[in-house]
Amino acid sequence: MYTRVVPEQCIACGLCQLKAPELFEYDEEGVAYVKIDNNHGTTPIPAALMAKFKDAYTSCPTGAILRSAHPFTSTATDAPKH
Ligand code: SF4
Repeated sequence: MYTRVVPEQCIACGLCQLKAPELFEYDEEGVAYVKIDNNHGTTPIPAALMAKFKDAYTSCPTGAILRSAHPFTSTATDAPKH
């Protein structure tokens, strides 16, 4: 399973990082991104973190967290701004 955050849909609520701190981090504006692959969605979620991921995924109030059985391929400008 792969995941990425759509920053335009993130309201910086903090839930995903609370549920799965190993997977989610925030940029300086408080917008979440997937830290295991800098929000590219190309690194598989470690099996040991899947329960935490599902918790975060179902907790996101805006549906900003995407998931896919395949790596994401878009190179859109949704990587965090550092
Ligand atoms: S749970 Fe959703 S809205 Fe909240 S910080 Fe994470 S991605 Fe953003």
